[in-house]
Amino acid sequence: MFESLTDKLGQALRNLRGVGKLSDENMADALKEVRTALLSADVHFKVAREFTERVQAQCVGQEVTKSVTPGQQVVKIIHDELVRLLGEGTTQLSGARPLKIMMVGLHGSGKTTSTAKLGKLLKKRGYRPLVAACDVYRPAAIDQLEILARQEELGFYADRNSKDVPAIGVAALTAAQTATADCIIFDTAGRLQIDADLIEEVKKLRARVQPDEVLLVVDGALGQEAVNVAKTFHDALSLTGLILTKLDGDARGGAALSIKSITGVPIKFVGTGEKTGDFEVFHPDRLASRILG
Ligand code: GDP
Repeated sequence: MFESLTDKLGQALRNLRGVGKLSDENMADALKEVRTALLSADVHFKVAREFTERVQAQCVGQEVTKSVTPGQQVVKIIHDELVRLLGEGTTQLSGARPLKIMMVGLHGSGKTTSTAKLGKLLKKRGYRPLVAACDVYRPAAIDQLEILARQEELGFYADRNSKDVPAIGVAALTAAQTATADCIIFDTAGRLQIDADLIEEVKKLRARVQPDEVLLVVDGALGQEAVNVAKTFHDALSLTGLILTKLDGDARGGAALSIKSITGVPIKFVGTGEKTGDFEVFHPDRLASRILG
């Protein structure tokens, strides 16, 4: 994950790690390289600039240059700043029971897969999840969700004869109650692009089912575009969290590192593969350590 970023940061910090004395000059060089590494991972330019400025300010503030192991201290400061950027301590889901979760996102982002993945994870936590198919435009999406639900032994609700999404949502709540499910995950429709109709439909469903969580599923390999998508969805729907998918692929890290700081919405889960088990609670500190190699 994010190998290129790890390589580049590693190079930038290698010279610093072992130095006995840190000068303003080698510090400035290293931070310039850090900034370049972030930019080439498609981190938003403002985020990259603020990041290096904050690191620099702390290095001066803590008189790192006078320390016995200055290089290691800089690495520690960078680690902590990465954690801050990724969003420390913000990954918990609502504790409501029943727990109602609405999944939104663009077509192809991994929404249906993530719905099943989240169901599986919550089942492990002791919930009785039911997944509700609210994508009425793609019968294949309903079938896909049904297959995954069966595979993971999750409750499933669909109404293949209706196009009334809010009504389907309400019927799913009733079905969940009947089945004594205590967690309902709504898989909503996606489009290739964000459009007003999609947002309107999701808003109507939201108003009817009153979800505790509205999670945007977004393809982490999209870099800055993922950040733009998240911003638009958040402006329209007040998201409570993000699921960043496809981090196993060629994602460079830009989305993961910029999205919380630009949108204010925390990443709660990450998708790391196509299988239903390839799904993790997001741990900013672990990812920061991984990025620093
Ligand atoms: P939806 O249109 O948003 O519902 O997207 P799908 O759930 O159908 O997923 C689209 C494609 O992305 C499928 O081929 C999934 O197997 C794949 N996919 C979803 N999440 C991940 C992930 O975390 N990693 C990888 N490599 N593929 C994923």
